[in-house]
Amino acid sequence: MAKERKVRLLTVLISLAVLSVAVGFFNAMYAGYQVQKTQAVKNTLESNLAYAQKLADVINLYIQAADRQLTASAGRILHAAGAPDTLEAELSLTAARIEGVTAVLLADADGRVTGRSDGGLPQLAAITKLGDLGVRELRAGYWVSPCCLPGTRQTTLTLVEPVAGGQGAPAGYLAAIVVLERGSGLDRLIGQHAYADGTSVYLVNVAGQVLYRHNATGADAEVVSSVTPNISPTAGPGAAQVLDPSGEPVLAGYVPLIKGNWAVVVQRPLEHALSPLKALLGESLLLAVPAVALTLLLVCACAYAIARPLTRLTGALASAEPASDQALKASTRKTWYHEAETLRQALADTLAQHRDEVGRLNTESMTDPMTGLMNRRALRERIDELVAAGTPFAVIALDLDHFKQVNDVHGHPAGDKVLIAMARTLQDNLRPEDLPFRIGGEEFVVVVPASAPQGPMLAAERIRAAVAKKPMPDGVGHVTVSVGVALWPRDGESPQAVIKCADQALYQSKQDGRDRVTLWAGGAPP
Ligand code: GH3
Ligand code: MG
Ligand code: MG
Repeated sequence: MAKERKVRLLTVLISLAVLSVAVGFFNAMYAGYQVQKTQAVKNTLESNLAYAQKLADVINLYIQAADRQLTASAGRILHAAGAPDTLEAELSLTAARIEGVTAVLLADADGRVTGRSDGGLPQLAAITKLGDLGVRELRAGYWVSPCCLPGTRQTTLTLVEPVAGGQGAPAGYLAAIVVLERGSGLDRLIGQHAYADGTSVYLVNVAGQVLYRHNATGADAEVVSSVTPNISPTAGPGAAQVLDPSGEPVLAGYVPLIKGNWAVVVQRPLEHALSPLKALLGESLLLAVPAVALTLLLVCACAYAIARPLTRLTGALASAEPASDQALKASTRKTWYHEAETLRQALADTLAQHRDEVGRLNTESMTDPMTGLMNRRALRERIDELVAAGTPFAVIALDLDHFKQVNDVHGHPAGDKVLIAMARTLQDNLRPEDLPFRIGGEEFVVVVPASAPQGPMLAAERIRAAVAKKPMPDGVGHVTVSVGVALWPRDGESPQAVIKCADQALYQSKQDGRDRVTLWAGGAPP
């Protein structure tokens, strides 16, 4: 089965760090943008409402002034009513006197037009009675809701004032026509504002139709049919975010005007209101880049510092070297945070325990439990060691004489005690570098580093004499040992051949009457 590939801790930490920095950063940016957006929308709505209010005040004053001047003119017009030439000149004068008024019509008491100053509006020639202009009532202060002049798309506002007659009844009516178009008095008033920020000013009627519009591209008095934002001129002043006819959100402030059931609307596309904010956001992003990069660098460095001790630990464990606590300690230094240090310590402790246990098991597998001497396996290792190092050595093979009888006469436990005493005797009579082994029941071997037979022969003789001299436990008395000696590499190329030579020499000692030492006499190995 293919080994599943795991994600590295450092990758996980760095991903988390980068993710949290990115989320934090974008969250801060987004929240900041939202707060500023809300504020910008609020400010724009407030300023649009304030500006609409100001324009409404100006337009109201303008209309009231026009109304007053119309009233004043109505008092003077009567004396000219008889002479058509004088009348027309008087009406033209009246139209010129009243700021913003384009044309003035004079009607009789029934509303039939009797004189006119058309102010360059040819359509007015077709108007024969005030009713054609939408005048429904003939009374002082009457006004007609702004509407289109018949036969044209120009929007007009008509004001009506009575002309004084005898006995208090009006002799006729004077109608002043204000044209809402580019270049008109109203346009000049409204057009003083700079509209470069995308702000537009509208005058809308009760039907929601645009009567007049002024924006960055100038006034366009011909637009009368577009559907305006849902603003009712009768609803009172207010400000709201609404959708324009093309579906674009706009921020509108609106204030109704006193005469004409119409309203001033000042609006600015949301997009325009937010554009400085977007530029600001772009700048903020640019300014924040170094700080974010530095933060990322720092968190990546922290992630590396966190992951590094664990990476080293796993590296030490996974290395080809047999893992030991020493190797672990050598390859991983003390770490700076608690968990990794605890882990490192725990691993080192576990490995140390493991090492002790392996050592103990190893020693056990190499040791003869009864005598405490090393066993045949240990002998093999010792010989391999010496051969590998090229150190010449002698094999001294020993076998207790007539040991069967000891067992038979004194019992097996007594025989065991004799074997233990024999082991002590060996240990007591050897140099530290000469190692004794129990390789069978009552068979022992001593390995003596030596290149000549003199030293090993002396050692063998010393052992033999010591055994013969030693009183054995449990009343066994004295026992003897037969010994054979051979040398590597003198008596054979392989250690096994040399051991066989030593056995042969031992056999010779038995043959010769036991309790003696025989040096392998040479010749071909057995
Ligand atoms: P020799 O070597 O002199 O020819 O005579 P021997 O009696 O020693 O002969 P052999 O080597 O054949 O006998 C070995 C005896 O050692 C046989 C066995 O009962 C005894 N023996 C082997 N291992 C142990 C042991 O662990 N404890 C005791 N008590 N006796 C053992
Ligand atoms: Mg034997
Ligand atoms: Mg024996």
